[in-house]
Amino acid sequence: MGRWIHDRGFVASTDGNISVRLGSERILTTPTCMSKGMMTPEDLVITDTQGSRLCGSRKASSEIAMHLLIYRLRPDVNAVCHAHPPTATGFAAAGIALDKPILCELVIGLGRVPVASYGTPGTPELSDAIAPYVPEHDAILMANHGVVTYGPDLLTAFLRMETTEHFAHVALVTELLGRQQLLSSADVEKLVAARARYAAGSNAPAAGLQTAHSNGNGDERVSLTRHELDSLIEEAVQRDRAHR
Ligand SMILES: [Zn+2]
Repeated sequence: MGRWIHDRGFVASTDGNISVRLGSERILTTPTCMSKGMMTPEDLVITDTQGSRLCGSRKASSEIAMHLLIYRLRPDVNAVCHAHPPTATGFAAAGIALDKPILCELVIGLGRVPVASYGTPGTPELSDAIAPYVPEHDAILMANHGVVTYGPDLLTAFLRMETTEHFAHVALVTELLGRQQLLSSADVEKLVAARARYAAGSNAPAAGLQTAHSNGNGDERVSLTRHELDSLIEEAVQRDRAHR
């Protein structure tokens, strides 16, 4: 996984960190001060749930506290990936959330990617900044820093990083073209219903996506809370069942 994030240019130098939950008591993490593209299994570190080293000769990631916070707040999460992919990090540095439904796959797979305020790396500020967003989102832009994604397994955590960067790239292209045609709320409703059918068991939230109203006025936007979106999904699924 370290080679993947390095080879795709999601990190430079010794940036980034990855971790995996090993049962309820231990966390496997990448070491600090080492390229994530050059690690061998011996370089990895095992810590307890407070971040104290249990195994390994290197020092654990300096961002281990952020990983531990995510594991605490999200019992469903077993892997965390932090990197600095340039396009998504550009949005983070500009303070722009990835929250517009311009790609159908995004609504199904990832939902809104918010921007957490800036926190100094390696300090509790960083964890405090992302904490409000962790329960409702699976990918977070960290202002003037990078991106953190997580999921039930390491591959999902990585794929969410890749999806976030891809989404940011497409969003940037629409900005360059000077135009964004947002999916209508009716289209988003259909997508969340499809997600409920095909991705049953996935807890990927699509909270807070701004949608264009389907009443013909494309300028008007609505913003949905997670709860409202869940109700919408439930309604759409019920309707879909009634039609079968
Ligand atoms: Zn970082």
